[in-house]
Amino acid sequence: MKIWLDGGLQDSESARVSVFDHGLTVGDGIFETVKTVDGRPFALTRHLDRLTRSARGLGLPDPDHDEVRRACAAVIEANPAPLGRLRITYTGGHGPLGSDRGEHGPTLVVALGATSRRPDSTAVITVPWTRNERGALTGLKTTSYAENVVALARAREQGASEALFGNTAGQLCEGTGSNVFVVLDGEIHTPPLASGCLAGITRALAIAWTGARETDLPLDVLERADEVFLTSTLRDVQAVHRVHDRELPGAPGPVTAKAMRIFDERSGHDLDP
Ligand code: PLP
Repeated sequence: MKIWLDGGLQDSESARVSVFDHGLTVGDGIFETVKTVDGRPFALTRHLDRLTRSARGLGLPDPDHDEVRRACAAVIEANPAPLGRLRITYTGGHGPLGSDRGEHGPTLVVALGATSRRPDSTAVITVPWTRNERGALTGLKTTSYAENVVALARAREQGASEALFGNTAGQLCEGTGSNVFVVLDGEIHTPPLASGCLAGITRALAIAWTGARETDLPLDVLERADEVFLTSTLRDVQAVHRVHDRELPGAPGPVTAKAMRIFDERSGHDLDP
């Protein structure tokens, strides 16, 4: 497979990143996952804008959008797939052990993996660990994902595909790699960014296209919501049919099914909404 590194395409088998890269040693890096449909990236402008926001949050130099676009196009061309996932990783670069930041400029890697269309519905759990809604990294898409990996493993042990976090105030926040929406009395609600969730690109589009409201929601709203759904780049809009032991029969319910339809239609018409 061909990936982008050091300004050009390289073979993934022989491409080398320093063992002292700060993305590896201290998680000083950021990333984006971008869906590709028939060889074209979806919502790339929004992903690049978020990449820049994450870089600024970590104090990394602004990524060069033209280079990242060129890298994405080159990697897509070199690895044709009907439905793919581009992974853009951008780190502080490498430097001597103990240095605060890499000394040779940032590292940019772009790779492409295949993916498949998500099932229409899935099971989720909640985990007892909390998102910190006031942390230095809150809202940034950093490579420090170990907590998400642990939570996702817990979900898989329980036959679920996603784990949802509350925040320190006991409010519903987000999943390990998704945003969460609930339907109450026919209206769609999702936690506000102040809950500590990532500003998901699919979340923003779902809010714009369905009129969902941003509402502070206690974690236990999951015990009474009429419908629950997730959004993310790789899930699009995905219904939840079970939260822990609580079955949500018939998922996707009518409101979620409509949101799924609207999302499919609108995103199919505009690849850079
Ligand atoms: N929340 C977290 C923690 C994520 O990692 C992701 C995506 O990976 C999302 C939410 C959903 O964001 P997006 O819709 O931009 O994929």
